[in-house]
Amino acid sequence: MDFRLTSEQRLLQESVRAVVDKKIIPIFKRNDPAKPLPKEERRALVKVAAAQGLTSVRIPERHGGNGMSALEYGLIREMMPASVAFGIAGQEGPALRICMGGNEEQIERYVPGLIAGDILGASGTTEPGSGSDPRGAKTRAVQDGDHWLVTGHKMWVSGAYNCDIMLTAASIGKNEKGHNRLLWLVVDQSESPFFTSKTPTMGLRQGAMGEAIFDNCRVPSKNVIGGEGTASRVLQDTWLLQRPGFGMVAVGMAQRALDAATEYAGQREMFGRKIGGFQLVQELLAESAAAVMTSRLLCYKALQAIDNDEPDKVHLSAMSKRYSIATCTRAVSLCMEVFGAMGISTELGLEELYRDIRMLPIPDGTNQILTLIEGREITGISAIR
Ligand SMILES: Cc1cc2nc3c(=O)[nH]c(=O)nc-3n(C[C@H](O)[C@H](O)[C@H](O)COP(=O)(O)OP(=O)(O)OC[C@H]3O[C@@H](n4cnc5c(N)ncnc54)[C@H](O)[C@@H]3O)c2cc1C
Repeated sequence: MDFRLTSEQRLLQESVRAVVDKKIIPIFKRNDPAKPLPKEERRALVKVAAAQGLTSVRIPERHGGNGMSALEYGLIREMMPASVAFGIAGQEGPALRICMGGNEEQIERYVPGLIAGDILGASGTTEPGSGSDPRGAKTRAVQDGDHWLVTGHKMWVSGAYNCDIMLTAASIGKNEKGHNRLLWLVVDQSESPFFTSKTPTMGLRQGAMGEAIFDNCRVPSKNVIGGEGTASRVLQDTWLLQRPGFGMVAVGMAQRALDAATEYAGQREMFGRKIGGFQLVQELLAESAAAVMTSRLLCYKALQAIDNDEPDKVHLSAMSKRYSIATCTRAVSLCMEVFGAMGISTELGLEELYRDIRMLPIPDGTNQILTLIEGREITGISAIR
């Protein structure tokens, strides 16, 4: 067992960190912190990421991507705070899903544009009445010649606001068990206009999370991705990877908070001493460091299990997201305590990290759904339905 990263893996992380800090974060900083990035700024961010291959980490090489391992994907995610990870979420997610479920013509039509940032994408399943249970979708698709008429409402979708295309699910009726028969379609604003809006949220305020409304939206049949069952299969496969990926985002954010708190503890003086010399401040740092390390190792383990197709990959993937985000959120909070009142000032950026990390437990499986997946993997009995 070797816990060390290779020199290539360390180099990969250093180069991603440099791009994130020097080229991507400044795009957020030059815009209003309380408003979503304007579309051209969102595209500028995606273009910078694309130039470094960050929009195509997992896309197979034959489709123009980097075809990296799950572990490398996680190492890259560790260098991306949530604002950056969600800033490009509309690109690789839909591109990978189209590669996994679509035909060659669809891959050719959308994947290069998504990777390059020429097309801004989103992947929308959540609706007002169906979040944790995507099978309960109320959005309907009715066939009309060689088109589908799509009517429905998607919400909480990363990248929805100002997107050019949305990969979305619609029901075409019920099967014999009474479950929705779901069709997966690319709805393309250029041929099938639909309404989008930004949803104000606690964190990721400059992000593009929002809603989409389809009102008898005419979508060509050639935009249907795969057949019935494709959406469910591909979503499960991509959630498997994205869960430890979100865990690594949390690890990176907590590491940033810990680095800042450690530096501050070595400078700030109170009662005539450096605060880093007080035992209770050391406890804050020790607890945070343990949280970062245990979360990181668990995520590495989950990502390697995915790479090696190990039998416990589903269990580890769910565990790593739930544990790491909870543990690292607490670590960010402890690090803020090291700063006293400065911890909550908008000047330092820690309060932003705290608001942003709080967004992470919800997508791709809430804590409760992940706990039940873990329970199912342990007992063999599902408590979800
Ligand atoms: C940052 C962020 C990004 C997102 N990005 C996207 C995106 O790109 N595309 C998209 O489609 N959606 C996205 N979402 C939406 C997200 O997928 C849903 O919010 C999530 O699936 C939960 O659904 P819900 O909010 O409707 O909560 P609900 O499903 O209504 O759950 C409410 C509560 O009930 C609990 N619960 C539900 N079912 C069970 C059960 N069987 N057992 C125990 N407890 C249960 C939940 O854990 C939760 O605590 C995003 C959300 C966030 C916060």
